[in-house]
Amino acid sequence: MTAAGAHAEDRADGDLHRNPMQLDMPVKLTVSYTATCPLDCRHCYADCGGNKSKPELTAAEWIEFLDGRIDAGVVSILFEGGEPLERSDFLEVLEHCSPRALTRVRTNGWLMTSALAAKLKAIGTGTVLVDFMGARADSHDWFAQRAGAFERACAAVRHLVAADVPTQMLIILNRRNMGELPAFLALAGNLGVSTVGILRLYPIGRAKHLWGELAMTLDEQMAVLKALRPPEGMKIMQSWHPNDGNCCWQMAAVNPVGDSIGCSYLREFVSYGNVRDVSFEETWNHPLYRQLREGHVESSCGSCSSREGSHGGCRSTAYAFHGRWSAPDPFDTELNQGVDLRDLPEWMLQACPRAPDKAPA
Ligand code: SF4
Ligand code: SF4
Repeated sequence: MTAAGAHAEDRADGDLHRNPMQLDMPVKLTVSYTATCPLDCRHCYADCGGNKSKPELTAAEWIEFLDGRIDAGVVSILFEGGEPLERSDFLEVLEHCSPRALTRVRTNGWLMTSALAAKLKAIGTGTVLVDFMGARADSHDWFAQRAGAFERACAAVRHLVAADVPTQMLIILNRRNMGELPAFLALAGNLGVSTVGILRLYPIGRAKHLWGELAMTLDEQMAVLKALRPPEGMKIMQSWHPNDGNCCWQMAAVNPVGDSIGCSYLREFVSYGNVRDVSFEETWNHPLYRQLREGHVESSCGSCSSREGSHGGCRSTAYAFHGRWSAPDPFDTELNQGVDLRDLPEWMLQACPRAPDKAPA
């Protein structure tokens, strides 16, 4: 493992950093259960409501697939969407998996009721993560394009906390909500939530088409994070320096129609095969999947590497801004190399972006 240090370390091609851990099978899995959603967010990564040509996996198909993955070593499953609770068969799958793995559910809260929260508790759901787009109704509902979305997200948190379901609140930091982060932490505290996640804005889905309006410079992002004063006892999860992990080495993700994509943030860049057509193991051995897991990177942030046990930061944003899988992650202060995160390369606006002069994944 790379020794701890405060500054970026560079190596010439042919002598790249590598992730120290290599696995035979993934331990963490993200399941994008559906691409349907009752909201219509302007920045939706999943482009919910867009044209979908293939049928989504059925509950029976998911159960068969997930049993295989758990048997092979998956210990943690994150269910997201779209909105997973939108599909009436979702609870069947969640109930099947929760005794066998740590399950987490990411939701916008629109469909949450006290009865549903009690059901989630009864079946042993590990954690529910509720998405907020702002700390106020006007900002949240502007993103969601549904009046009442903010109130229903708050009500969802109240139902979950009352049912004693471990609950976290998430927010994607962007230019429109950057002034609301202190209010967001206060809101979480008032709702009885002690862990919040502040997430980066990724240039995927509809978000990349709003990039000029939503993107912030890295300095602006770090200033917002630095100024936060969470209430006593509140834990903040964030993935900027020094928490910039290159977590590809342990991850798997499958989208609603069964494409194995490694991570939800890689959804537009890669497809390693469809689990309806080939075994998951075959997709896991896709050359690009293997390459990303090995974590060959040109530069490494010593502090993040030391803390996360992997090198170079997120591969999705490295590729998005540099067009190279081995590039440094520009969201890391030690690895930014002068990249203005407001300037998204033009080629990224393609539906399935491929960097110029790069072979398709
Ligand atoms: S709540 Fe999430 S899945 Fe639904 S439209 Fe908004 S961003 Fe997309
Ligand atoms: S693309 Fe980024 S967030 Fe996804 S697994 Fe790789 S490093 Fe982690």
